[in-house]
Amino acid sequence: MKQAYEQSFGAAKVVTGSAHILDTGKSKILIDCGMFQGVNEHLNYAPLGFDPREIEALIITHGHLDHVGRIPLLYKYGFRGKVFAHPATFDIAKIVLLDSAKLQEEEYQTRYKKAQRRGKEKFVKKPLYTRDEVKKIFKQMNKKYIDYNKKYKITKDIKATFKDAGHILGSSFVEIEFENFGIPKNIVFSGDLGNKNNDILPKPQKGKIADALFIESTYGDRNHKSFEESKVEFKKTIVETLLSGGNVIIPTFAIERAQQILCILKEMSIEGSLPKDAKVILDSPMANKVTAVYRKWNKLLRKNCQKYKHHPFEFPQLNLIKDVEESKKINNIIRGAVIIAGSGMCNGGRILHHLKHRIWNPKNTILFVGYQAKGTLGRDIIDGAKFIKIFHEEIIVRAKIVTINGFSAHADQKELLEWMSEFKKLDRIFLIHGEYDKQIVFKSVIKNFFNKKAHIVNLGEKIYL
Ligand SMILES: [Zn+2]
Ligand SMILES: [Zn+2]
Repeated sequence: MKQAYEQSFGAAKVVTGSAHILDTGKSKILIDCGMFQGVNEHLNYAPLGFDPREIEALIITHGHLDHVGRIPLLYKYGFRGKVFAHPATFDIAKIVLLDSAKLQEEEYQTRYKKAQRRGKEKFVKKPLYTRDEVKKIFKQMNKKYIDYNKKYKITKDIKATFKDAGHILGSSFVEIEFENFGIPKNIVFSGDLGNKNNDILPKPQKGKIADALFIESTYGDRNHKSFEESKVEFKKTIVETLLSGGNVIIPTFAIERAQQILCILKEMSIEGSLPKDAKVILDSPMANKVTAVYRKWNKLLRKNCQKYKHHPFEFPQLNLIKDVEESKKINNIIRGAVIIAGSGMCNGGRILHHLKHRIWNPKNTILFVGYQAKGTLGRDIIDGAKFIKIFHEEIIVRAKIVTINGFSAHADQKELLEWMSEFKKLDRIFLIHGEYDKQIVFKSVIKNFFNKKAHIVNLGEKIYL
């Protein structure tokens, strides 16, 4: 018999790469297996740090890449256990992994061609996985579909209850129960917690008992701007630009944000503030696919969305673009269009074409509705770049640049504390999934609020439970 422990192999002092092992001494499970993104990207090529063949079960909290992106590697190295997640999470995870594989394959081809000209092609890093591999994995995956608020037997000694985390469709936080040396243990993994201020998903459910809580801390250092005020600003920007003969370009993430934006535009359409002859164009194959999943899981949405049955995001002015030819035709539209496309930070995707064709024109508005990381084109634009480079062409920035900050899919500091205070029992607190400087702030806030010392989890550190 061994002392039970938790060990994080990602999302330790950083936001991405979520992968947390729980070893009860009798069985070993993994919670999430996400990809490292941004400055830590190289870590995806490092060894996982554990043997996937020893993992009996994988729990997926939600379908974001930073929580599912290394799952194909688990299979590559021999994982064959059960996989527990909400069916909507399986749907989204598949879209996300296929998209990630596609980007990796494309990037590999580009780099390979360039390296070939230098005679260095054998040094080019291969994709972590391909689309074919992802498809094969989803076929062979031993999927266990969970429903919220039911207790499931995960392994011979571990039980888990999944509750709605309100972060993206299908997202869960997980309450895990087992016994260690005859003592019952309740361990909670928050996954990513949602922002209760939004139009489409319910607020995160309440947790019950946590002898140890592993909580995300993405926005542990701050509070978001008001959602309602952001919505007003969003609507005003759209109406003003369209009425003055311009177009609005909205770079957006395909999951959650795109649907939130459609929901507000639908509201504008119903209340009559969106001109009847406006054209709202969703030019993102991925957002289209994800929106279809949201439609399919209509019962998980907020009541105000459910009342539209299977059309929570549709309205007369909306046009969904499928192929590239259709996408190119958008360039001919002179005025009155709201163009929604990815990627959310303008570091790839169809948004680049729309920026190229629109950002030079002072009549247009580029409307940012999400976080722009350092080093991305989106960040350069909101930081006030006078010229930008797209496809080797230098383009002047004359369009109006508007940034709206109240649409985050993450709970802010206030909401995290509120959620924590709802537990009947909250003993030890461990901070994961956050940048270190923000975690330090959150740790001191927790000290003031609960008079408890939270621990910031280190990569690979064993935390005995
Ligand atoms: Zn997430
Ligand atoms: Zn995350």
